[in-house]
Amino acid sequence: MEIINRRQRMSSVLRRVRREEERTVGLVPTMGALHEGHLSLVREARQRCDAVVVSIFVNPAQFGANEDFARYPRDLTRDTAMLTDYNVDYIFAPPVEEIYPKSFSTYITVEGLSEPLEGTARPGHFRGVATVLAVLFNVVRPDTVFFGQKDAQQTLVVKRLVRDLAFETEVVVLPTVREPSGLALSSRNAYLSDTERQQATALYRALQAAKAVYKNGARSARRIAEAVSGEISLDPEVRLEYVSVTDANTLEHLDKLDDRPALVAIAARVGRTRLIDNVVLCPSKLNSRTMIEP
Ligand code: AMP
Repeated sequence: MEIINRRQRMSSVLRRVRREEERTVGLVPTMGALHEGHLSLVREARQRCDAVVVSIFVNPAQFGANEDFARYPRDLTRDTAMLTDYNVDYIFAPPVEEIYPKSFSTYITVEGLSEPLEGTARPGHFRGVATVLAVLFNVVRPDTVFFGQKDAQQTLVVKRLVRDLAFETEVVVLPTVREPSGLALSSRNAYLSDTERQQATALYRALQAAKAVYKNGARSARRIAEAVSGEISLDPEVRLEYVSVTDANTLEHLDKLDDRPALVAIAARVGRTRLIDNVVLCPSKLNSRTMIEP
């Protein structure tokens, strides 16, 4: 496994991998502080691709001014040790100025999908996400990229980015990995105290409540949202920021759920920590753990 910091070196190494060795390349973009959720993506990449690249880059462009960019957990030594066990070929861990050289001024906005939900709570977030991914895609030229359903809106933004700008890469989305308590794994869980970690399981319970009322026949988005907010309100230490019920592929607001898969997405604060989670509700045997349409 080689750790590469420079984008030119990353490009030239992978050019050789693709052209001379004729190997396919899989990319798992991350911000590090790796956990089982990231590793599930790495495992899938290992199975599907000849060469696996994991990028580790805490992307300043996707953090708002009052967000946690400065204190976001960073531990490249630990991350490297974890990835050694997974037979990863390259870690791409560039410093900020490698991705955003002086006078960098080109940003990408995926209109429509970037504004609701997380986009409302975190203005500019997906502009930062789309921009860094475009740079990474151009440096790595992956045949396949791997993302987690945990960040449902991000998967839609990426799929649209890839289609609209004609990146020659396949986007694979994998299910959310959870603790036995139901809490979705997240690098930000490191901020939680033991008590807060317990309280944070309310997010999962709230989504399960939404699923239960849906299974019992409820089709009103308001009814489903109330199931979520009702469950969250049981713990006064957990503050719901939003619950949204939308078309799972377009993020259009729904009043009534129909044949289309619906995304129930939530953001909540536990102490100072902001957490997100989601569940997909759909009537048929379609895979409800990940997005349905390419
Ligand atoms: P991050 O490092 O938080 O930017 O996440 C990197 C990738 O890992 C993204 O595609 C995330 O959606 C994915 N990811 C994060 N947490 C989980 C999880 N609990 N289960 C599955 N994928 C995850």
